[in-house]
Amino acid sequence: MSASSTGRVPLVGALLLALASALVLALLPAGVALDRRIDGVLRATAIEDLGRAPMILEDRTAAREEALTMHAMSVATTAGVAEALAAGRGDEALAMASATAAMYGEDPVLVAPDGSWLAGPPLPDEAVEEVRRGGAPVLYLDDGDMPRSVALAPVGGGASEEAAGWMGIAGTSVPMDSTLATTLAALARADVTLIGADGRLVASTLSADTAQAVTSAVAAGAARALSEKVDEVMTGVGAIWVAPAEVPGAGTVLFTRAVDEELAALPGVRRSALLAGALTLVLALGVGVVVALSLARPVGGLAAAAGRVAEGDFAAPVPASNIEELDRLGRAFRTMRTSLQARLAELAEANTALEDRQRRLAGLQAELIRQDRLASSARMAAELAHEIRNPVANVRNCLEVVRRGLPEGSESTPFVDMAIDELLRMHELAEHLLDLNRPIDPGAGDCDPVEVARQVAMLAAVGDTSVEVDVRADPGVPRVPIPPDALKQILFNLVDNAREAAGSDRPIALAIRVDPATVTLDVLDRGPGIDPEVAAHLFDPFFTTKDAVTGVGLGLFVAEGLARRYGGRMEAGDRDDGPGARFRVELPRQAAAPGAADPESAEPGRAE
Ligand code: ADP
Repeated sequence: MSASSTGRVPLVGALLLALASALVLALLPAGVALDRRIDGVLRATAIEDLGRAPMILEDRTAAREEALTMHAMSVATTAGVAEALAAGRGDEALAMASATAAMYGEDPVLVAPDGSWLAGPPLPDEAVEEVRRGGAPVLYLDDGDMPRSVALAPVGGGASEEAAGWMGIAGTSVPMDSTLATTLAALARADVTLIGADGRLVASTLSADTAQAVTSAVAAGAARALSEKVDEVMTGVGAIWVAPAEVPGAGTVLFTRAVDEELAALPGVRRSALLAGALTLVLALGVGVVVALSLARPVGGLAAAAGRVAEGDFAAPVPASNIEELDRLGRAFRTMRTSLQARLAELAEANTALEDRQRRLAGLQAELIRQDRLASSARMAAELAHEIRNPVANVRNCLEVVRRGLPEGSESTPFVDMAIDELLRMHELAEHLLDLNRPIDPGAGDCDPVEVARQVAMLAAVGDTSVEVDVRADPGVPRVPIPPDALKQILFNLVDNAREAAGSDRPIALAIRVDPATVTLDVLDRGPGIDPEVAAHLFDPFFTTKDAVTGVGLGLFVAEGLARRYGGRMEAGDRDDGPGARFRVELPRQAAAPGAADPESAEPGRAE
């Protein structure tokens, strides 16, 4: 999944990167918002909860006041207390009052009828006045040692001084100490710090240092208001929320909560959220890998198949996909590949046809050039023959006269005979050459090629009994538009050459085949075949590889000229079935239009 050296990222990598980026971008703000929300809710709940603590104090105070009043009444009506006070036995009265107060776990308050103080904190004048009027007040005061709640009642329980006579004040006092702090802390689920009326620290459920820090901060007015009832102060151990509740005359109760403790759940929540986020990311990436692979596999397969098409392989498998668009793409690719393959095949076929045509054209062109060359040669040869035929005849006639004039047994007679023979050969040669250029006589006739072939085979055997010419013909060979003498001369020249090339003891085959438009005659021998260097000049006039006595080089030239003259053609090559040469004469089944093969050859008077 690493980036390739070209800096391009694979599809799977790109998809996973996009997925991871999208998840991180979505999860991060959501996580931050959630964190803020939880933080806000925790703070608001804690602050609201702490804000209710003073009301808890109020409720408890109200409840406690009734109990305290009853305790005070109980002490004031303790049997014997009134009598002892009236008799001036203060100590005795105090002992009895203390015993009753001790039952409630409280301290006694006792003032003699003359106003002398026996026990309890110093009482304010208003309170004393109220008791004198028969009241039973509960008051809060701080004597500098300890803030207290004090309940008073007239000794003897008299309703008023007038009614029962004034017998002094009795009651109970409860210190507002660490016990109260602990009780309130339990009720309010907060730390509690008690501060005296003069601002000193009295008791606290906090550690001494923290309690002192909170007390000093509140005293210095460094608290920042968070709500109507809750402030925040900064201490050495962190921020602390404070809900103060004043107890008039006694001091202040501070309900506190450490911010860190209140938000202690937050790091845990954050850790869980982070874990959940990471898990989500991992799970999403896992699912992403599966999805990305199912996307990348067909795409990669397509790319590979396209690459293989470029190398000419049209059969590479194109993977199917469950994703509709990718599957469609795959099907479209397969269709495109099939039609491309078909087009390429058509193109290759057209190319082959074109090459074939070009080859045939080149062959035709070469054949035309060859025929043109041979036709020119034939014309020239005929003109030469025409020029030399008559002088040769004249010289021969003269020699005949000379021969007749020679005495019997003259030494010159054999030489003159030899000269006459040679002149006869020259004359025949000239006649052959003239034949090539004679206009076609429309009535010259046609012949049965099989019959002519058999005659040639027979003639060859008459000349040399060891020569064997095997004539093979297709059934139903038609007549061909060439005079029998012309065809005989052609075949005789070919058979003669075959005999010379192969030797008289090797059979020569003469095969006649019928095609829709032509009749083909093949003369086949078992000689050395056609020498490649000779092949190009076979039909040239006077071309021979034989010595001056046996070869003149006009046999093939005359044969080819005759074949062409009657609308046919000739070619030479090696046999298909083993060593040996094959000379082929192709003749049309229908006569060609007069002069069609060589228009110039038809000019009247040129041949004679
Ligand atoms: P000539 O027979 O007087 O040489 P041709 O025109 O008949 O003249 O033949 C020309 C040449 O073609 C021959 O000299 C020979 O080299 C070659 N040739 C002709 N027929 C054959 C054959 N059947 N096998 C091999 N070469 C041949």
